[in-house]
Amino acid sequence: MIVSLSAEAPSTTARDLLAAALAAGMEARGMDDGHGGTVIGVDGSLPDDVLGLPGIRAVHPTHKPYMLASREHRPHAPTIVKVGDVRIGGGRPVMMAGPCVVEGRESLLETADAVKAAGADILRGGAFKPRTSPYAFQGLGEEGLRFLADAREATGMPIVTEVMEPDQVDLVARYADILQIGARNMANFPLLRRVGATDQAVLLKRGFSATVEEWLMSAEYVMASGNSRVILCERGIRGFDPALRFTLDLSAVPLAKELTHLPVIVDPSHGTGKRSLVGRMAMAGLAAGADGLIIEVHPDPEHARCDAAQTISPVELARISRSGRALYAALVETSDVMIEPSPGRDSLALAV
Ligand code: PEP
Ligand code: MN
Repeated sequence: MIVSLSAEAPSTTARDLLAAALAAGMEARGMDDGHGGTVIGVDGSLPDDVLGLPGIRAVHPTHKPYMLASREHRPHAPTIVKVGDVRIGGGRPVMMAGPCVVEGRESLLETADAVKAAGADILRGGAFKPRTSPYAFQGLGEEGLRFLADAREATGMPIVTEVMEPDQVDLVARYADILQIGARNMANFPLLRRVGATDQAVLLKRGFSATVEEWLMSAEYVMASGNSRVILCERGIRGFDPALRFTLDLSAVPLAKELTHLPVIVDPSHGTGKRSLVGRMAMAGLAAGADGLIIEVHPDPEHARCDAAQTISPVELARISRSGRALYAALVETSDVMIEPSPGRDSLALAV
C-alpha cells in the first residue's frame, strides 16, 4: 500500500502511519515526494481508521513489488541524486568517465585532468575489479581508492568506484562518493543491504541476465535498507549474437524511467565492448532518455590495462560530451518528444 500525505499534513500523521504498520508487523518507509509532501510505502494494508488521519491525500492499495522505487511512489518529481555539486537526473546529462581500472597514481591523475577537460562531471575507476578470470589483474584495492581520492582532491570531481563484497563496503565508502554495484553483483542481496545502510549514492548496474523487474527489485533492496539515493545503469544484456560483447538494451531506459522515479544512465562501453561504437551508442542512450553516461576513457586507450577494446580517448569523450549535451538539449526543447513525464501524468511517454 502506498499512502501520499500532502505538504500540510501534521507530522503526527506520518508517525502514526509508520507506528501502525510496525505494530501490525509490516515493513514501512517514508520518503519525501519532491513537492513538500511525504509518501509512505507499506508492505501490506493498513486498517481504515489510520487511513482517515488528517493530511492523507491518496491511498494506493496495490502497487508494484518495488514499491519504493516505483513511479507511483513519487509520481510528480523524478528523483535527483546530488553528489557534491553534480545533480544526476536534474535535466542536464551527467558524464562519468575514467579508466576501467585504476592503474597507478600518475596515470589516474593524468586521466582525471583529461576527462575533466573533456567535459566529465564524475571520475570513474575500479580499485576492486570483478574479473572473469581469477588470473587477470584484480585492481589495486585500497591503494587504488587512495589514488581516486587524490584525483578528486586535484580535480574537484566526485568519484564512483565498485564495491564487490559486503565486508568491503565500509572501506570503499570512506573514499567513494558513489558506490558502484557491478552487473555481476546486481543480485547480491547482502551487498545491496549493506550499501543501503550507508548514506552514499549507489550506482546500480543491471545484471546482464536480469529482467528489468529484477533490476528494480535490486534497487528496492537498497531503498528498503534506508538509502534512496539510487542511480540505475543499463550496461547491456547477454543475447545470442557473439558479434558484440553485450547487447545494449536501450528500450530498458525509457521503460525504467516510466516504471521508476530514479535516474537512469547508460554505459555504452561495456554495452558494446567496441571502441568504434561507443560514441553512437552514447548518443542513442541520451536519445532514449538517459540522464547521463558512464564511459571508459584512457589517455592511451589501446594500452589500457583492462577493457582496452572498448576504451576511448579523452578527445573522443570531448566529442561525445559536446554532441551529447547538444542532443539532449535539443530533445528537451523539442515539444513532441518527452524526456521526463510532465507533472500530473503518471506514465512517461516517449511519444509524438
Ligand atoms: C565497470 O563498470 O567497471 C564494470 C565492471 O562494469 P559491469 O559491472 O557493468 O560489467
Ligand atoms: Mn571495464
